[in-house]
Amino acid sequence: MATTRKTTTRKTTPAPVPQKCAPCAGTGETTETVRVGSRKGRETTNRQSALCSDCWGTGEALAD
Ligand SMILES: [Zn+2]
Repeated sequence: MATTRKTTTRKTTPAPVPQKCAPCAGTGETTETVRVGSRKGRETTNRQSALCSDCWGTGEALAD
């Protein structure tokens, strides 16, 4: 008869936490200030969210 062991201490390897993308802080989006004027680049209060060009919206840093 085979003895079955009950392991009380079960080691579970934690899922690898994906590195957060730095530029967007893992949100996948970057908010950039809308500027008007081609020369002065005056900032407005308007902010537009743009897709992060580093992770393309995934929010994860590319492990490459
Ligand atoms: Zn990003």
